[in-house]
Amino acid sequence: MTFTTRFAPSPTGPLHLGHAYSALLAHDLATAQGGQFLLRIEDIDQSRARPQWEDQIYDDLSWLGLTWPHPVMRQSDRLDRYRQALHTLIDMGLVYPCRCNRADIEAAAGAPQEGVPQFGPDGRIYPGTCRLRPMSEAGSQDVLRLNMKKALERIDSISFQETGATHSGTHALDPKTLLREVGDIILVRRNMGSSYHLSVVVDDADQHITHVIRGEDLFDATQIHVLLQALLGLPTPVYQHHKLIRDPAGKRLAKRDDARAIAKYRAEGTSPKDIRAMVGL
Ligand code: GLU
Repeated sequence: MTFTTRFAPSPTGPLHLGHAYSALLAHDLATAQGGQFLLRIEDIDQSRARPQWEDQIYDDLSWLGLTWPHPVMRQSDRLDRYRQALHTLIDMGLVYPCRCNRADIEAAAGAPQEGVPQFGPDGRIYPGTCRLRPMSEAGSQDVLRLNMKKALERIDSISFQETGATHSGTHALDPKTLLREVGDIILVRRNMGSSYHLSVVVDDADQHITHVIRGEDLFDATQIHVLLQALLGLPTPVYQHHKLIRDPAGKRLAKRDDARAIAKYRAEGTSPKDIRAMVGL
């Protein structure tokens, strides 16, 4: 199979040095392998996505010297596809509607207990208040959650290959960890028609991604993605989670770190070669 990787930014702010590293690394590896580098715009959260940031992404990546095939996949065009995947999970009896807001979840979770994790890769671990609600009760103000316990009963032992330096090796999904440290993840967010986790696995499969190259901050979410792939009968790519680019104080760069925005470096006369050197490529 042709080595195929992707860069999947969300158009919710300017690309910064960390994005430049991720995109350049993926593009370099695809080129070295005689493979393909694809771009995907993760604009599922329409309350935060802006056309101006999408345009800036194309502009910055071209300036860095990257090329990609057209048309570019955009999540906002694919709601029907996500709905189809969701219905597969609903038909398997693995989905329930949840009406809890953040305060409800905090109240139900109670006081933090020693050794019991409160947050996982999908945010606060859900205490299960709505778990017995049937799908027939789902309303527009509900989110839809995966019943993790039932989902785990559906799969045999599964694992994924990680080639990034920090976690290199084969990782078997551990049901205990998924129950305790991940829990009933959100498949459909309010007013969104999907969620990051559901969209990303469907998109990676539809784009025939063989290698997912992305930041280390998403390593813990990978077990969710591999589980959803198994449930939906989708292939599992190889994963490579790379180092995060940090500011001089050691803090991870965020979208609001305009000081490290590629556009700002461009305006100051920095060259793409300088950017490569700054991120260690
Ligand atoms: N859209 C995500 C981000 O901008 C990347 C998701 C991924 O690579 O799986 O952080």
